[in-house]
Amino acid sequence: MRRPAIVALAVLFALSMACAQQPSSRDVLYQTSTIGALLQGVYDGRTTIGDLRAHGDLGLGTVNALDGEMVVLDGRFLTVDASGTVHELDDAAQTPFAAVTWFGADATQRVEDVPDLAALESLIERVLPTPNLCYAIRITGRFDYVRTRSVPRQERPYPPLAEVVRDQPTFEFEQTTGTLVGFRLPAFVGGVNVPGYHLHFITGALDGGGHLLECRIDEALIEIDYTEGLMLALPTTRDFYEWREAGEQEATIEAVER
Ligand code: ZN
Repeated sequence: MRRPAIVALAVLFALSMACAQQPSSRDVLYQTSTIGALLQGVYDGRTTIGDLRAHGDLGLGTVNALDGEMVVLDGRFLTVDASGTVHELDDAAQTPFAAVTWFGADATQRVEDVPDLAALESLIERVLPTPNLCYAIRITGRFDYVRTRSVPRQERPYPPLAEVVRDQPTFEFEQTTGTLVGFRLPAFVGGVNVPGYHLHFITGALDGGGHLLECRIDEALIEIDYTEGLMLALPTTRDFYEWREAGEQEATIEAVER
């Protein structure tokens, strides 16, 4: 009677080892380029929206020439431009920086009356099993208030991102339905992506949104997808070959993203 139990244990052990070493292809955060390159003005890439579609149905990023904030939700690739207008991206459009994954919730939490973004982040923090995994996040519900920003399309020679966001257009929404999509990433991804929370917003009517700066939730469903795989696709462009990391990157990310 003992042998089957041992076999079962061995199989379980082998399965768990396999899981640890090979994340399911759905639990991979696929990313093109790095936040460091974007900060330094590498605003053109060759990855297309069609390429991204093969790697996920939820995520965020921007498009070439830094022409707005990208929101990927339920397989729809949208951008919010500097006038606040939402566009559906076609497959040929290109991106200098984006991250997507196949979204499937591993944890959910219903919330009500969340007063601000800091409170939302600490609520999510309590649900997470560890700060050391990547998490994709989708938050759907009614928002009392949302403030977002977008970025204006740039012309060459491209200025660094910190300069661009100095006069970024911001948008405010009151009493709206909508969805926040994005990621909570470990501190150790710094330089590659944004450590901590990075969320983009899209209204329920798909007529507004952008990079999230602040929000107050009336009621919402938070869904979190544990993502243990990371796939980094580096651009083979002259711009990417030539950019060099500047000092104080952490402080710059904080200034540009929050
Ligand atoms: Zn953003």
